[in-house]
Amino acid sequence: MNYKTKLLVAGIVIFILAVASLLYIKNAGSKKAEIRVNDQQVQIGGSTSDAPKDTSRSNLDKPSITDAKSNGLKIQDKPVDFGFKPASGRIIDTIVIHSTYNAMGGDPYSVDGVIAEYKSYGVSPHYLIDRDGNIYRLVEDKNIAYHAGISRVPDGRTNVNDFSLGIELIEKDTDHPTDAQYASLNALLAQLKGEYKIKYVLGHDQIAPGRKTDPWNFDWNRIR
Ligand SMILES: [Zn+2]
Repeated sequence: MNYKTKLLVAGIVIFILAVASLLYIKNAGSKKAEIRVNDQQVQIGGSTSDAPKDTSRSNLDKPSITDAKSNGLKIQDKPVDFGFKPASGRIIDTIVIHSTYNAMGGDPYSVDGVIAEYKSYGVSPHYLIDRDGNIYRLVEDKNIAYHAGISRVPDGRTNVNDFSLGIELIEKDTDHPTDAQYASLNALLAQLKGEYKIKYVLGHDQIAPGRKTDPWNFDWNRIR
């Protein structure tokens, strides 16, 4: 080999090494990104998944507390495995307010008692607010919960479950909602109105007149 050939070979070797190291750096970078994406998916799936394992009885007994969005509103996830139909991509523009209590014996204000009663009827709201203002999420917003029954909103649409969220306050029909319930309800409504374009916030009695009387003794002036 003469000097020029040696120089050429050396040049080619350096070029190949340079390309190889560039490829290595690029691969390492994308692997890191992949891991990050997977981590995110695990977190998202863990908090919002409605997979069967997440609707087990043990989850009913041990609600997990999560910070919903960024406004610090505390919502305890307490997923049920009845009273709803999985859905995706539905448009939510109505919120229906209900009231209920445990009429099956024992403490009328028992959250677990109320949920057991829902189970016996195969119904559920999305959210349940107890007398102390604790908010429980029983069904994810995206899913269709069976809370409204035969009903109609003012613009004439029926099948209200399809486009609404249901919120239940625990109270007897002789009670009034507590201050804590009004406070939590307002905070929850503010969050949901930020998340969805809400056209109606209505009582169950307004969408099923003659058939339903809840929310009982409810002061609409206290809703912001
Ligand atoms: Zn109702």
